[in-house]
Amino acid sequence: MNEPIRLIVFGAAGRMGQAVLRIASENSGFEVAVAVVRERKDDAGNAVAANYATVVDAGTGADAVLDFSGTAGFNAALDLAVQRRLPLVSGSTGLSDAQQAAMAAAASKIPVLWAANFSLGVAVLAHLAAQAASLLPDWDCEIIEAHHRLKTDAPSGTALTLGERVNASRGRPNDPARIDRSGKRAPGAIGYSVSRAGDIIGEHEVRLAGSGERLELIHRAGDRDLFARGALAGARWIVGKPAGLHQVGDVLGLARR
Ligand code: NAD
Repeated sequence: MNEPIRLIVFGAAGRMGQAVLRIASENSGFEVAVAVVRERKDDAGNAVAANYATVVDAGTGADAVLDFSGTAGFNAALDLAVQRRLPLVSGSTGLSDAQQAAMAAAASKIPVLWAANFSLGVAVLAHLAAQAASLLPDWDCEIIEAHHRLKTDAPSGTALTLGERVNASRGRPNDPARIDRSGKRAPGAIGYSVSRAGDIIGEHEVRLAGSGERLELIHRAGDRDLFARGALAGARWIVGKPAGLHQVGDVLGLARR
């Protein structure tokens, strides 16, 4: 049997971090070498938790860093991965321009797999949507998404990525997201519809409409664990890969378009 992949997990106390720890513990293919929580300081400013020097020691022999610590922890996860020359898998979203630039710079030294959505199904949806849109270049494209009532950004990052992929497959510049549908439809522009309700985890539809027929590609997320499973699949895949910025589609061997 293959040796388990040994992980340093950043954001281990968070919702996604907890899901990663639970799923990894149920799978003999993974071992959590270190679970890193947020650094906490006492009133005098001394660290009382998450001393990163300790993390470096404890993580000796780890194979990859897996990060779901958000913007607050991302820098520490990236620094540790670069310092230890370990691959980084990160699902932290909302990264600043500086954080994205630091990630791109790090990717010249280590393999990095970053995704706003670690669903393998969404990666396939994006691939199929790009293929369909390029085969049907004159059909109108609409992207429809639904999420829970607490989500603050709209359209979702995943909806915007789907739109980018459709535009790229048609050789079109990526238009700004179009939600206001007053007035006539601009030819070629992608329209976005957004629903926020209840506890919907995430639904995305790419609708292509021609004359007298339409094609609808839909993905529905049933639970948050799927993101943790996708990130763990990414961690297994990335060990031994060359430095560079990798995508979830690469894990599935999907061609980039
Ligand atoms: P959360 O707030 O529950 O968890 C984040 C955790 O990171 C918290 O426990 C926080 O204390 C911890 N943290 C902050 N700074 C840290 C540091 N320096 N070191 C270690 N830990 C630190 O949030 P969540 O719902 O688990 O989401 C985490 C991130 O993952 C967010 O950016 C979210 O948008 C993103 N997310 C991505 C996907 C995906 O598929 N890519 C899916 C769901 C969520």
